[in-house]
Amino acid sequence: MDDRDGVIWFDGEMVPWREARTHVLTHTLHYGMGVFEGVRAYNADKGTAIFRLQDHTDRLFRSAHILNMPMPYDKATINEAQRAAVAENGLESAYLRPMAFYGSEGMGLRADNLKVHVIVAAWSWGSYLGKEGMEKGIRIRTSSYTRHHVNITMCKAKANGNYMNSMLALQEALACGYDEAMLLDNEGYVAEGSGENIFIIRNGVIYTPDLTSALEGITRDTIVQLAAEIGVEVREKRITRDEVYIADEAFFSGTAAEVTPIREVDNRAIGEGRRGPITERLQSMYFDQVLGRRDSHPEWLTYVR
Ligand code: PMP
Repeated sequence: MDDRDGVIWFDGEMVPWREARTHVLTHTLHYGMGVFEGVRAYNADKGTAIFRLQDHTDRLFRSAHILNMPMPYDKATINEAQRAAVAENGLESAYLRPMAFYGSEGMGLRADNLKVHVIVAAWSWGSYLGKEGMEKGIRIRTSSYTRHHVNITMCKAKANGNYMNSMLALQEALACGYDEAMLLDNEGYVAEGSGENIFIIRNGVIYTPDLTSALEGITRDTIVQLAAEIGVEVREKRITRDEVYIADEAFFSGTAAEVTPIREVDNRAIGEGRRGPITERLQSMYFDQVLGRRDSHPEWLTYVR
């Protein structure tokens, strides 16, 4: 990852990829107090476009606000940095990683002289959960790790340190032969995947957990809006793991995971054990949307060139 051509936007300048370095005493490396985003740019019909750029930038700033981290740049600058990171790396499609982190000006939890640094990197990244998973659906298992409690870490923040929990859950799922983890909240209700929101469908109605301990996913919001367009109701509610077992269909949503069908949970087939019809419809609407093939929401696409 660190040895490649290209550039990374680093504190206001484009820096050669190999030179975008930071000190080993970088505060965020030690304690995980940082915020980031995961954004995708697609090779849309009319050119490369970043999907819901403003919404991702807004969430980055909300995450920083929650952590009390002063952002040294305004939103317009961070938007432009993302556009430039895709364009200047000559990418047709990309995954983008904006991140704000504390520097190495001080150590210890009390450090009050820390500078906030911001980077934006962009690289090519295919389907996060594999092409086959997108068509056939993936197999998941309920994690033995509980999702963050709202008063332990801040669930509305996409904060670096929060991802220790995600990685433990994902590692466990992969080691047990599954593709992804389903995390329950501290009360035992379904929260989300390690990096995805979750939806289930039963008798033609879509259900998704409320956002108490799940991230406010931008793909989740996109799905809610697409479902409304085709007249399928989406209800937010607490969901138990056995409701997932008896669902007709289920899928994950996320910028990286896009819309990934779930065919099995805890060794129980969901519905017919393959991608369901409503999931397939929403998945194809989602891809049409990000590729600029739909008339609705042109404001969701920011062309980079
Ligand atoms: N939950 C978690 C924990 C995530 O990391 C992500 C990915 N950002 C999501 C949900 C989905 O969010 P989005 O659709 O905005 O990518």
